[in-house]
This record gives sequence, C-alpha cells and structure tokens, in this order.
Amino acid sequence: MKQIKRVAILFAMHQEASPIAERLGLDAQRPLVDGLPAMTRRGTVGGVEVVHCVNGTDPVHGVDRIGTEAATLTTWLLLETERPDLLVNAGTCGGFVARGGEIGRTYVGGDAFLYHDRRVPLPGFDAQSVGRIPALPFPGVERLLGIDSGPVSTGSSLTQTEEEMAFFEREGVVAKDMEAAAVAVVARDRGVPLLALKAVTDLVDAPEPSHVAFLRNLASTTERLTDHLEALLRHLGEGRTLEDLTG
Ligand code: SAH
Repeated sequence: MKQIKRVAILFAMHQEASPIAERLGLDAQRPLVDGLPAMTRRGTVGGVEVVHCVNGTDPVHGVDRIGTEAATLTTWLLLETERPDLLVNAGTCGGFVARGGEIGRTYVGGDAFLYHDRRVPLPGFDAQSVGRIPALPFPGVERLLGIDSGPVSTGSSLTQTEEEMAFFEREGVVAKDMEAAAVAVVARDRGVPLLALKAVTDLVDAPEPSHVAFLRNLASTTERLTDHLEALLRHLGEGRTLEDLTG
C-alpha cells in the first residue's frame, strides 16, 4: 500500500480555488504549461505535496474557463506534468431539494460520473455520451468529513431543460456541475484515482434561478468547501494510503 505523497486539486473558478490556497499559504501562481491560461500553486501540508490548479482566465472574455473543454485539457496536462497519486476535482454544483440538497452542503462524487446533455441514440455512442464513468467509493472521506456521496452529472449549461430534469430524477443525481465527468474521463484513461468534492451553491429543483442563488452563495459555500479540503489535506499530510480513503 503506497502512501499518497502528491495530490493535485483542480478547480474551474478562481473564487472556488483561492481560499484554500490562501489558507495553506501556497506559492504564487505559475502557468501549468506555456501557452495555456491554466495556473498552478504549490505547497506542502505535513507529508503531502499539494499542486493546486485552475483552468485560468479566458483571454478573450476575461472570465474563468469553466466547462468540459477546459477541464479535459487541463486535467490531461496536469496529470502528465505532475503525476499526482490522487486527483481532487473540487468546486461548486447545483443540488436537489428532492434528495436532501441544501445550500452549502458538500458531496463526494459517488456511483458514477454522468453527462446529462448528450443525446446520441446510436449503438455504443449512446453509452459513451452518457459517460457513466464509475466513481471510486470514498467511505473514508465521507467519515472524515461527515458528508454523503452520490452521482454527479455534468453538462455545458448552468440552466437545465425538462428532459434533463427527468434524467436527474431517474439517475438520483445529487450534484449538477460543468466539469466532473470530463475530469473523470481523463483520470480513468490515465489510471489516476479521482475524488470529486462538490459543494451546493444553488438548488436545481427550486424556483429561484440558479445564477441568482449561485452569485449569492458562492463565497459562503466555498468557505465550507475550503474547510473540507483543509481537513482532507491535513489528514493526507499525516501519511495515508488510497486504501485509507476508499475503505
Ligand atoms: N461565472 C459565472 C457562473 C459560473 S457557474 C457567474 O459568476 O455567473 C458555473 C460553475 O459553477 C461551473 O464551474 C459549475 O461546475 C458550477 N455550478 C454551480 N452550480 C451549477 C449548476 N446549477 N449547474 C451547473 N454547474 C454549476
């Protein structure tokens, strides 16, 4: 059983990512690779090396590079250049009142990573489109942080359609985001264990529009996500194996 010595944490947005970097006193940001806006910050927590990464700022639109395209590219480059023992995809998500979702609650990505906005009714491609990338079980993390797990579903929009709502119900989705499944595909392809931590900024099945709730709750939800990340990293810093987290 190998000790986890290096952890990479990938975030989509600076506002999700900065609080934990500040709290841990990570180094100033540096480009992940030349020619891409993705940025890394480094440090150590006890015996674990932390590589903190954001997709960076879109050079044309001046906003964070959210979504699956940036997530795929950054994940591949991050895993190739940093070779972490564990990848964490941390960020915010839409939660579901129907499944006990509340603003500020954090979930561990469980069961499978899905895509909810891909419709390709062709043999083989239908399954590829939905993703359904198996998630590693992380009961050790659930116990440590006192949080639950469930399916995370990824798409390219902050809003949702009726058809997507039916999908979320059918699949028992607890977290709707814009990156996790893309990160999971790359992590699976490269054989790197992935832990997704998704904190609820808005409720998909509540009347208030997601973008309104998102902006109001982003800072407070991120604060709680940051507490969980810090607890996880301090735990890993004491010298843990993947089996400590998955058993
Ligand atoms: N920057 C924009 C909003 C980005 S929201 C603004 O300030 O208005 C989308 C980001 O938050 C994505 O990275 C996504 O992973 C996450 N997210 C939070 N709630 C979501 C939801 N209901 N649906 C999809 N993604 C959500």
